[in-house]
Amino acid sequence: MKAPSGPAWLRWRGAVQAASFVFANSYFLRGWKGFCYPGLNCWACPLANFACPIGALQNASISAPRALAGGASWWAIIPIYTIGTLVFFGALFGRMMCGWLCPFGWLQDLLGRLRKHKLKLPRQLSYLRYAILVGLVFVLPYYTGQPWFTKLCPQGALEAGLTQPLINPELRAMVHEFWYLKQVILAAFIVAFVFFHRPFCGVICPLGAIFSLFNRISAWQIRFDAAKCVDCMWCVRNCPQGLDPRTQANGHDCISCLVCAQCPYDAIYSAPIWAPARSHAGKADEHAQATQP
Ligand code: SF4
Ligand code: SF4
Ligand code: SF4
Repeated sequence: MKAPSGPAWLRWRGAVQAASFVFANSYFLRGWKGFCYPGLNCWACPLANFACPIGALQNASISAPRALAGGASWWAIIPIYTIGTLVFFGALFGRMMCGWLCPFGWLQDLLGRLRKHKLKLPRQLSYLRYAILVGLVFVLPYYTGQPWFTKLCPQGALEAGLTQPLINPELRAMVHEFWYLKQVILAAFIVAFVFFHRPFCGVICPLGAIFSLFNRISAWQIRFDAAKCVDCMWCVRNCPQGLDPRTQANGHDCISCLVCAQCPYDAIYSAPIWAPARSHAGKADEHAQATQP
């Protein structure tokens, strides 16, 4: 078996994820909370620098009925800045923010390393996150005035739910049953992170659902060159999402981590959508000849 190949920067993903976590939670830039971070990072965390895009969308849903009742037109209630930020990142990079930047995705990767052989969730469950996006981020907050996704979000339970009561005695005194329920949800996910491939990203996350919509049309794409593939299955064994990258890269479950782009035979690579396909005619034959006894 040949060693993994591809550009050296592909092997810096863990360092980029760590840097992203620090950048999003360094406290020193907290004056930037008006800007959205393109990852799930709770803005109620005392160290968080930026706004959570899902929290911002949900707040817009909550305030929309009041604005409409006050005479605002329908277009004035659309959170154009937040949607524009998500469209900007999604159109350029698809789900690369999931694979490279999101702090909660990184946590799942780290805990996922504790167990090599993961259990697989039914693929149909991945459609649940679209229902969660529509139901808990838009519809229920609009009709009830309550932040339903935030109430249940394990990322919020971890970053804000654990830290805020620690540093603020008034909040500590307000801890009640719902706080314990959130911590139980968080604990259940932490256990699941060890046994499944990023279960929160695959089944629950509404932000991942939004970025998934761009994966097949984003400017940055993953490509498969069938002529170079020798079916060694390295990419299948190493895909952190348990996918077959030869057919499922750029799909809605792919987090664009580009692990598969380290294919030892250069059959998978990343490139801008407008770049011409690499011409590898004859390379598979070359490989076959070179490896013949
Ligand atoms: S799907 Fe996962 S990696 Fe992507 S934004 Fe959600 S939590 Fe983060
Ligand atoms: S694309 Fe083909 S050659 Fe490359 S790792 Fe996957 S199975 Fe092996
Ligand atoms: S298909 Fe490739 S880019 Fe997508 S999750 Fe798997 S290894 Fe990462």
